[in-house]
Amino acid sequence: MVSTLKQVYRIVKLWLRERLKFFPAYPKTLNFDITYHCNSRCSMCNIWRHERTIEFSTDELRAVLSKRLFKKVEHVGLTGGEPSLRKDFPEIVDTLIESLPRLKSLSIITNCVSPVCSERIIQCLFERCQSTRIQFGLVLSMDGVGPYHDINRGVKGNYASLLSVIDFVKKKAIPFSLGYTITRNNLPSIYDALELARQKKWNIYFAIAEFIDRLNNQDCEAIQSFSEDERYELLLFFHKLMHDSHISTLYRRSYWKDFELLSGRERPIGCPYHKEGIVLSPTLEVGHCAVKGKIVGNAKDSSITRVFLKTWFSNKRHVKQFCENCFHYHYQRSSKEELTAVENKAVRRLISSENINGCLLLSRFLTRPNLQRFILIVGWYGTETVGDKAILGTVVNDYARQGYSIVIASIYPFITQRTQQELHLDAVIIKSESMDLIRYAKYAEKVVMGGGPLMDLYDLKYPLISFRISHKYHHENVIYGCGIGPVKSRYYADEIYRILALSDRVTLRDSDSVRLFKAKFPEKAVEQVEDPAIGFIKERAGLISRVSDGKTLACFFRKVPKEFSDGKEKWEDRLAEYVKSLVRQEKLTKVVLYSMHNFWVGNDDREYARYFKAKYFSDSEDGFTVEVDNSLSTVDNTIERMKSARMVLCMRFHSMLFAHTLGVDYRVVDYTNGGKINAFLKDHDCISRLVELPASISC
Ligand code: SF4
Repeated sequence: MVSTLKQVYRIVKLWLRERLKFFPAYPKTLNFDITYHCNSRCSMCNIWRHERTIEFSTDELRAVLSKRLFKKVEHVGLTGGEPSLRKDFPEIVDTLIESLPRLKSLSIITNCVSPVCSERIIQCLFERCQSTRIQFGLVLSMDGVGPYHDINRGVKGNYASLLSVIDFVKKKAIPFSLGYTITRNNLPSIYDALELARQKKWNIYFAIAEFIDRLNNQDCEAIQSFSEDERYELLLFFHKLMHDSHISTLYRRSYWKDFELLSGRERPIGCPYHKEGIVLSPTLEVGHCAVKGKIVGNAKDSSITRVFLKTWFSNKRHVKQFCENCFHYHYQRSSKEELTAVENKAVRRLISSENINGCLLLSRFLTRPNLQRFILIVGWYGTETVGDKAILGTVVNDYARQGYSIVIASIYPFITQRTQQELHLDAVIIKSESMDLIRYAKYAEKVVMGGGPLMDLYDLKYPLISFRISHKYHHENVIYGCGIGPVKSRYYADEIYRILALSDRVTLRDSDSVRLFKAKFPEKAVEQVEDPAIGFIKERAGLISRVSDGKTLACFFRKVPKEFSDGKEKWEDRLAEYVKSLVRQEKLTKVVLYSMHNFWVGNDDREYARYFKAKYFSDSEDGFTVEVDNSLSTVDNTIERMKSARMVLCMRFHSMLFAHTLGVDYRVVDYTNGGKINAFLKDHDCISRLVELPASISC
């Protein structure tokens, strides 16, 4: 109760603050571009092209800061151009500290092109802040690992000079963050930078480059010119970051903003320039917003305070048209954020296995969606691997051929929307954790649990609720080619049995699952069918012709899930050893580590591949090369990769299923301790494909 009241209070306060923002206020946050000069040639900025002007002197600055307009400034960010190019930087800092009575924090961002210059201003600002007890902030620009940084920054050798400045600040125990501005040029390096920062324990922040008037960068082609694949890659990336509990709430709020904007929705969070920000240029011109604000006057003019407050409303109105789509990194709370949190919590309570009666009650009041004769597919869609995509392809095609419209419930709809595009599916996608699940389950002619295994998963509540509602309205519930297990928890075992009890038609993909089902429901009919993915793989493979290159080992590895990690000591060492021996034995010259899954929920295989390669291989081993393929994986490119290779080494269940269906030469490593991989090989009389990893390391 107390927490609900607190939440209501927070929302009302934020809402009022947002609504009252048209009342002029003295600024608290100053964005100060202290110079137009810059020694970088960044692909997202043209400030270095700015014509040389006479920039402010410290005497002028002192006079300006004594005005009423600056009396409430608490936070100052010193930027540019490159601030370290101001020779009088120490005097500027002194002037700010002396002139701003409420100053609480000072921060700088530097490009480290000249380590001497950067280190000079860092040391200076750090010491001044320490002696005056003002909070210190330092951001070093890092736009990629190695050449990616240099390309984005337009200066050869800048990555090396950045590393030397990092060494400097670390030795001096000066706190710092890295700021990564994402453009089309350095997008391929985002994961490398994140993983490097994690490894080194550096704090890193990612921001998407924005069109900023004062940087004169409207014609920079690298800004936000992402292809569909790149946009999707960024969605995956920001989704991962916004759910990473190791990252500060402030950063995660900004990553959520990036995710929403990339999804085509409005900026959901606030910005200091909505209410209390001010921008100052090197010629002391004044603006209201760091991104799109117009210059309203010069701070040297005696009337600047009056002009700033007078133009406050018209400028806010001008800027407002850009706010909804603005990527700028500021991360203030907003009433929308609070409301979203309340809404999500309420929906989570509603769509829960413990509230099935509530769902049934609610279903009475829900009206029919504007769709005739449709089926609802539920399962783990929204976290799909390439194998799950192939399953979905079969299920959708099957029912579409029977004349049904298709609705897919997805845990993460942006993932399934991508699958829909890839597979050219005609389907409506709804969010699993939403009232739509109840509505569509009520009116669907059939609810279909499509594909994946019925196993220990929090998300079992979606098939359970939709089956229960569909059952109430006398519609058909179908288990379509699923497996059963692994199931360790009693709670989830009960949920699985409840789902199976509500089913009207059951097909299962392996003999173990059929046995389990028959033991529990001897009165019900069940049929064993091939994994639904197989039909779709065959259909696509018929359209893709490739011949083996005779030299490549295509590996499809994954991180061993926690539930299978027992007894896997030295597992990776042995796997790496096996790869080496297989390459030697088959006289191969190339190993490529591919992926079947690109989403952090369920582990991105590419991350594991990068880790595996870095730990066990160099780019060029004795007689063969090792590569990680970081591209997004699809059904079609998985077929191409397997067909083009000389041999396929599988670990994910569906990588084995792909290889087996395609008829390529494959081996499989069973991480499931005799589970579904073993069951499949036995069912298909292919147990000789199973790899026995070497017991100990011989190299
Ligand atoms: S345009 Fe961007 S930086 Fe300017 S006020 Fe709006 S959200 Fe803030």
